[in-house]
Amino acid sequence: MLDEQRVRSDTPGAGSGSVFLDSAGSSLPPREVTETVIAHLRREAEIGGYQAANERLDDLAAVKDAIAELLNTTPASIALSDSATRSWTDFCYSVRLRPGDRVLISGSDYASNAIAALQHAHANGARVEHIPSDDTGQLDLDAFADMMDERVALVSLLHAPTNGGLVNPVAEATEIAHAAGALVLLDACQSVGQLPLDVAELGVDALSATGRKWLRGPRGTGLLYVRPELATSLEPGRLDLHSAQWTAPGEYRLAPDARRFEFWEHDVAARLGLGAAVRYLLDLGPDVVYDAIAARAAYLRKGLADIPGVTVRDLGVRHSGIVSFTLDAIEPIQVRNRLADQNITVTVSHRGSTLLDMAARGLDSVVRASPHYFVGFDELDRFLTAVSVL
Ligand SMILES: *Cc1c(COP(=O)(O)O)cnc(C)c1O
Repeated sequence: MLDEQRVRSDTPGAGSGSVFLDSAGSSLPPREVTETVIAHLRREAEIGGYQAANERLDDLAAVKDAIAELLNTTPASIALSDSATRSWTDFCYSVRLRPGDRVLISGSDYASNAIAALQHAHANGARVEHIPSDDTGQLDLDAFADMMDERVALVSLLHAPTNGGLVNPVAEATEIAHAAGALVLLDACQSVGQLPLDVAELGVDALSATGRKWLRGPRGTGLLYVRPELATSLEPGRLDLHSAQWTAPGEYRLAPDARRFEFWEHDVAARLGLGAAVRYLLDLGPDVVYDAIAARAAYLRKGLADIPGVTVRDLGVRHSGIVSFTLDAIEPIQVRNRLADQNITVTVSHRGSTLLDMAARGLDSVVRASPHYFVGFDELDRFLTAVSVL
């Protein structure tokens, strides 16, 4: 069971009279995360960034240990970055594409992924195709299996879309992709930190996620998991003296693990903050966290569905903590703004973020409410009442 009182008192932004429903955008960090970041910035100001980092070498190494524990893998298979998109694109562009190759992206894929896949494919004479969704809205496994052949080099799977509450059947899809010899890159931006997640079980070749959403870490942090065998065979498109070593005037050697996907320079304070966020999650227990999020999201879906003029837009069989909806009479942006006037934070997901899915459903935008475990049910009631009288 989640200790609601503890998590709320650990969260300065919770209980300040506002209702925060945007953990799918940028969550409220626990106090420990903010204080870790600020303390390190202060220390940098006192003794300089290099010495300040040297004092924290063990804690910095422990960041990857914590992430590895969370994902059930080894620290050597983790590369840290400044965003999910940085991590996703670093992997995507390192997959060599030849003329005639195919890259498959999911129906609810995120715009940044799609744009990068298009650029990388077009530059190499390859093409991008879309995996359709089934009647429930999740990835259509049968259609996907029919699309697979040996020319598919890379499949982009989306674990939990940004614009609605479904969770895709990743392990099943990965098996299909691997049977045809394709690599699988999983966008876990909306699942890491909310769903318990095990890369060995999912079987994916790579996974990207961000720090600021469900993990409750600082902005400007991201991570990439790369399957160990690939972390020693793929060559990233850009290298520096951290991802590789200059061994002779005309030679360099790549780092022997996922570090080859990292650059040397990074925001040390933010990275320590990310470590604190992941530790906090591990202390609470990922299963406990997911149960608490799922209960809140289910409560919102039911409450919204009971309000006349409101349509819940979530699809799928298994659900994430994202609740998407529209009102018959009020545009999503107006809904967001009017709720903001009452200190209730939700956001709007626009067509451009998930073009394929939104276009297929004829939607321009949806309101997105994403309750983390630190949101109380009394606050959810306040939100539902506010929506009902908009
Ligand atoms: C937010 C989001 C991203 C991008 O994350 P950044 O850290 O902003 O790069 C990618 N995919 C999904 C599904 C997202 O919701």
